[in-house]
Amino acid sequence: FSSVEVTQHYLDRIARLDKTYNSYITTTPALALAQASAADKRLAAGNAPALCGVPIAHKDIFCTIGVRTSCASKMLDNFIAPYNATIVENYLDSGVVMLGKTNMDEFAMGSSNETSYYGPVKNPWATDCVPGGSSGGSAAAVAAHLAPAATASDTGGSIRQPAAHCGLTGIKPTYGRVSRWGMIAFASSLDQAGILSRTAEDAAILLNDMASYDTKDSTSVDREVPDYTATLNDSLKGLRIGVPKEYFGEGLNPQTAAHVEAAIKVYESLGATIHSISLPHTNLSVPAYYVIAPAECSANLSRMDGVRYGHRCENPKDLNDLYMRSRSEGFGDEVKRRILVGAYALSAGYYDAYYSKAQKVRRLIKQDFVDAFQSVDVILGPTSPSPAFQFGSKSKDPVAMYLEDIYTIATNLAGLPGLSIPCGFVDSKPVGLQLIGNFFAEAQLLNAAHQFQ
Ligand code: GLN
Repeated sequence: FSSVEVTQHYLDRIARLDKTYNSYITTTPALALAQASAADKRLAAGNAPALCGVPIAHKDIFCTIGVRTSCASKMLDNFIAPYNATIVENYLDSGVVMLGKTNMDEFAMGSSNETSYYGPVKNPWATDCVPGGSSGGSAAAVAAHLAPAATASDTGGSIRQPAAHCGLTGIKPTYGRVSRWGMIAFASSLDQAGILSRTAEDAAILLNDMASYDTKDSTSVDREVPDYTATLNDSLKGLRIGVPKEYFGEGLNPQTAAHVEAAIKVYESLGATIHSISLPHTNLSVPAYYVIAPAECSANLSRMDGVRYGHRCENPKDLNDLYMRSRSEGFGDEVKRRILVGAYALSAGYYDAYYSKAQKVRRLIKQDFVDAFQSVDVILGPTSPSPAFQFGSKSKDPVAMYLEDIYTIATNLAGLPGLSIPCGFVDSKPVGLQLIGNFFAEAQLLNAAHQFQ
């Protein structure tokens, strides 16, 4: 098939089916076909990169020249970025075709895709259920075959949890492995871009081009990008897998736990050795995250003030009125909740009690992993406590929603890579298995995932 044919196939499916799923905020058919036909010329000339001509979707958190980048917020409904995110640019260099921009929770704050200004996304496996979040649009698009793969971002679980709920492979690389330049910041010390795809092999091919050292991102790490496909077929004989006892406690759905335990048996049969480990500060990761992430978001989102770009209120009386009304009208409830919590935690009188304390807890959480990786190579557990839940069932209770990420958040606090792969079904809904690796051990994680698949 030519790239134009493949691209047209996906565009036709999107036009026919996405009314149901709402996985895209913006589609770019004319641009996609122009990129596809340019890719076909490169392919005909020979020596084209591996991904040349492959269509993918980008989460609407990545800036794209000439195409709206909304972050699923009314605030940026009219925003057209004057530059491309580095990862968008990397894929353009490889001849990758962009099908459009996918739906998400507003500013990536959420676990259900219910906070989007453009409406919720439906889980293709069960349309009365959420696809997970915040990268719910990217996950639903791939699960419904409206894109072969999609980019996504993960601040506390936003790639791995939707991967689990939509039966996909999702990888969050090590902090600093992928450039954050042009990815609209939520919590800068936690945000990392990654991939949602059907298989670990697809994720490996896509990560090869997504990862790069970027001088435009001061936290980007200058380290060679290995060929992640080269080690996919390595044997797992002798791989030491740690199973943290804290990841199997109260709150874990017993059927989800049974699938994860069955996966452990599969790994044993592949030659891995299983070790019970402890990550003693696990129960502090959600509270620490919900101080640090809102604190950083309150600072990052202060740039959205109605002056420079984005939503501006009608007829402001004065500057204060302009700020207040533009922000009140532009941001949704969850975003406002985070800004309030974050501004409070950072305020002079409370900084030591909350923010500084949370940073110390973060250090302990990271140390748990550093200690564990002295004796194991990979850590294994569930991705989410239970399968996809029904719309509305957690949206009125922020704490219940925040606990969705109980197994994924610590990875971001520590900066480690994590991945989710499908490992079974509960009530016809997919279950995710999480693998956490040591710093920059993406190749090992993808190898372990590929052998399982
Ligand atoms: N669900 C978490 C939150 O709401 C994580 C989101 C994310 O990873 N972007 O903050």
